[in-house]
Amino acid sequence: MKRFIYIAGILLVLCMAIVSFVRYADLESDRNRPDDRIQSSRELLTSNPHESALRMRRPPTNAPHTSEPSEDILLVNAENPLPKEFHPENLVNLYDQKHRHFQLAQADIEVCETVFEAMDAMFAAAQKEGVKGFIITSGYRSREEQKEIFSTSTDGTAARPGESEHETGLAFDVTTMGDENFELTPQFEWLSNHCAEFGFIIRYPKGMEDVTGYPYEPWHYRYVGKAHAANIMDKELTLEQYLEER
Ligand SMILES: [Zn+2]
Repeated sequence: MKRFIYIAGILLVLCMAIVSFVRYADLESDRNRPDDRIQSSRELLTSNPHESALRMRRPPTNAPHTSEPSEDILLVNAENPLPKEFHPENLVNLYDQKHRHFQLAQADIEVCETVFEAMDAMFAAAQKEGVKGFIITSGYRSREEQKEIFSTSTDGTAARPGESEHETGLAFDVTTMGDENFELTPQFEWLSNHCAEFGFIIRYPKGMEDVTGYPYEPWHYRYVGKAHAANIMDKELTLEQYLEER
């Protein structure tokens, strides 16, 4: 009987040992199953997709830092025409802006809202320094309007439809009362010294016809944002040269 108990004891211990070994082996194999590893990486990736996207979009730390780092500049010229379906957003009618600091040659001139805000601040600053009498003669032009201008132009300086900056809503033309030559006015002198402070550039500078494809236009101002405008005007570059350098 004693012998029987002894054998049964040994068998019981053996059984317990086998059971624990099998459970341990199961745990180990679970831990090493490749599907589980994939699952957990997927969970990591999808646990916060917004954060993952943010991480991917973050620029390298040595990227140049300006106040408008991500602003893209729209280049429009004979080599870079606007797509047919292009239409600027947020156009505002300048006539509707009752407390503006400039006059209008006609009642239907529009520009993008950001451009209006910048130009109004610019002309307000000029007025504060005693320089006034600015008259806006042109802003946004639709493709149809530019077609009309191009087909009736006789001096060959009008841009082909799709190649005019006026179709972007980011440019305007300015003059003063009774002045034949805007370049010789105190208004032009003030603008050429201060336009960059408000985000504007003289888009077709003197002597740069070969680069821009346009004769000198002291009356045509293009909005590019303050940081870009300061760089372009300080270095006396055309927009084409500036974009090439970047
Ligand atoms: Zn113009």
